Order: sequence, then structure tokens, then C-alpha cells
Amino acid sequence: MKVCVELVNTGSELLLGRVLNTHQQWLCRQLADAGFAVTRQVAVPDTGADIAEAVREALGRADVVVTTGGLGPTSDDLTREHVARLLGVSLHEDAEVLARIAEYFARRQRRQPPSTKIQAMVPDGATVLMNAHGTAPGLWMDVPSGRFRQGAGSVLIMLPGPPRELQPMFREQVLPRLRQHFSGLDNYVVVTLRSTGVGESRVEELITPHLQELLQRGLELGFCARPAEVDVRLSARGSGAEDVVWQGRRVVERLLGQFIYGEGDERMEEVVARLLLEKKARLALAESCTGGYLAHRLTNIPGISGALWGGVVAYANEAKSAWLGVSPDLLASHGAVSGPVAEAMARGALERAGADVAVGITGIAGPGGGTPEKPVGTVYIAVAWPGGVHVQEHLNVLERETFKHVTSTQALDLVRRRLCGLPLQQGRP
Ligand code: ATP
Repeated sequence: MKVCVELVNTGSELLLGRVLNTHQQWLCRQLADAGFAVTRQVAVPDTGADIAEAVREALGRADVVVTTGGLGPTSDDLTREHVARLLGVSLHEDAEVLARIAEYFARRQRRQPPSTKIQAMVPDGATVLMNAHGTAPGLWMDVPSGRFRQGAGSVLIMLPGPPRELQPMFREQVLPRLRQHFSGLDNYVVVTLRSTGVGESRVEELITPHLQELLQRGLELGFCARPAEVDVRLSARGSGAEDVVWQGRRVVERLLGQFIYGEGDERMEEVVARLLLEKKARLALAESCTGGYLAHRLTNIPGISGALWGGVVAYANEAKSAWLGVSPDLLASHGAVSGPVAEAMARGALERAGADVAVGITGIAGPGGGTPEKPVGTVYIAVAWPGGVHVQEHLNVLERETFKHVTSTQALDLVRRRLCGLPLQQGRP
């Protein structure tokens, strides 16, 4: 059984290019991983006519229609009202929602603007999805067969626009309901393995020949490349799906092994944070060209204070000497962007922090500053631990922000490898 879902993202800001439509990507990902087929997505401006037309068309085709945005209290929040009109139902004030909105403001000791009460207006027959992170509730409506398409009804789900409200509501309330509602959905299994250090074409070239038999047995294989990373997605439907995906996973793990750093949605910094905490290891950072980006990524992880000692951004030579003890002679003889300086930075951070592992990063982000011997993009990353150090050289020819991201991923991977006892030298599978 295939369940088709269409998304209607409302908001003029999406069409003015002011807000990136992250709901499209996030919802498609969640739905696809749960075995639903997203067959169409459209973004429409905040006008009643556009919203109503898009929802009417989608209800004429899809089993599930999900709208996002336009449930708030302002004059451009029209979804609720126009959907109710389209379905020919009235709106009524829901006492529980009204009380929740009042409580939301009272808890924050803020005056409740009278306009917020409109969010308690609920279309007749709708199920309210309470909003734990805002005031606009989500709505779930069963649309009977024959109303917009013959032979089948649809589910219409309206979700609030802000991602921090939409995402928990979708995960905690919508997905379980959808699974229950479509309990005849085919068994669907998916695993995403996340790798770093190998390019997308090479990953594909390595894996695909060894998966032919499983592909014929229904395995679906997908690749997703991001800066410095490639995801391998293995999925299957039906009765033998677990076995096919499990066997596919074993093949990929055998071929990519140490280059796989995690699975699912786990990011590299989360993996490293988890490993540091598990191993009770303290990390210190000495960053130059990444300008604190590595520290930024790690400090986004809750609980990292149990593992991160701290870091310095030592940009000028004087800072490298004053804060990390890098000798001026070493800087003069090898240059600030060099393996020995990366090593001295990592050692300096390790010793000053009394840490278990430390990273030193120095490089040329560009666009200026390159030389024939050290072109723009040259990076040295050192990882040091009591009794040892290892330095890697990379050439990351990228614009500055992507350069920082890729370089910090390479540094995190070195820490991961050190913590897992994996080889530190740059091998290619
Ligand atoms: P509110 O109570 O904030 O008015 P709402 O349900 O009416 O909620 P909108 O007003 O449509 O939602 O959107 C609120 C904010 O949510 C937008 O300004 C935008 O920052 C964010 N947002 C809306 N739609 C999207 C989207 N598709 N992708 C990413 N962010 C979005």
C-alpha cells in the first residue's frame, strides 16, 4: 500500500526569498523515512485564494495533505479560515486551546495580545494538535471520500510555521497518528550510514557492484553528498525488508568501514561529543583559520561542558606564541601554515589544558595568501595526546565558510579516529 502525501508550504516570505523553505526538506525526510511517498510539494503566498486553491488541488490527488504556516494571530495568517471555508465547515472557539494560550503568556509573564485568541478558533470536526512551543495549535482533519476525489478520503494536517513548533509537533503527534491511521502501510525499513573522507563517486563505485543481488531483491540505494560527507541510504519495502537492508548494511560497512562515522541523523560533532563523554576524555582546541568554528560546532551539543576544556583562536603569529607557546623560530623557519606549527599548536593546547586530546589547525582559507608551495586551501590539522601527535595535510579549495566547515569536519574526524583507536593516516579505500 502506497500512501501519497502532498505538501503545501504557505508564506509569501518563501516566495520573496526571505526565508528558506526548510519545512520542505525536513518534512520530506521525516515522511520518506517513515515509508510515506511525498509526491508533490508547492509553496504559495499568504493569500486566501492561493492557499484554498493549492489545498483543493492537493486533496483531489493525495491521501495526506500537509500545510505549513498561516496559523498564527496576524492578518496574513489565513490557513485555518480558508481551509474551513473550503471544507464547508464552521469555526468554533475551543476552550482548552484558549486556556493553553492564556497559560502560555502567563508562564512567561507577558501580556496576552487580544489578537492571539483567534488561534483558539478550530474548524468543526478537527482534532487539535497542542503546541508545546508556541500558541498556534496544529489541526488534523479527516476529509470524507467523494468530497474532493472519488473512492477515497484524505487526511488534512495543518502545522504552524516556526520550525521549533512544527518539528516536535510533527514528530510527537503527527507521525504516530499517521502510522496508526495507515496501519496497512507496507513494512518499510531504512538505514542511513554517514561517511566522511571519501568522495561520492568513489563511494558509489566501491559499493554498487557488491549490492547487485540485493538490489534485485528490492534494496533501494541512495547517496547524498554534503561538504566533506556522503550519506549512503539503504531502504526496502515488504516482508523481507529487514533482511535485505541488514545485508546491505553489512556490505557497506565492510567496504567503507572506518570511513563511516555514524548513522541516521547523528552529526559528526555529536558523535565526537558522545565518544569524548563515554571515554571521559577532555578536549582542547587551538584554531587559526577555522576561527572558532570547531568550538562553535561542539558547543552546539548539549552536555559538551563535560568534555570540552576550551579553545583559543590564535590567528596572528604573536597569538600562537603568547597563548600556545609556539616558538617564534618555528614560525619563522616553517611559516605559520605548516605541519610543525599545527603540531606545536596542538601540543601547546594539550599541555596548557592538561587535556587528553587536543587539536591544532592552521591553513590558508583564501582567496589571497597562497604561494606556489602552499596554495590557497592548504590546511594542516594536528591531533595531540599525552605521548603522541599526528599531523594531516589537506587541500580544501572552497569559499571561506565551506572551508571552515570542511576543515572542522576533518579535525573532528581525526579526534574520532584517535578516540576509537582507528588509523590516523589518510588512507583511501
Ligand atoms: P506564527 O504564530 O509565528 O504567525 P504561523 O503558523 O502563522 O505562526 P507563519 O507566520 O506562516 O506561521 O510563519 C512563522 C515563521 O516561521 C516565519 O516567519 C518563518 O520564519 C518560519 N517559517 C514559516 N514557514 C517556513 C518554512 N517553510 N521553512 C522555514 N521556516 C518557515
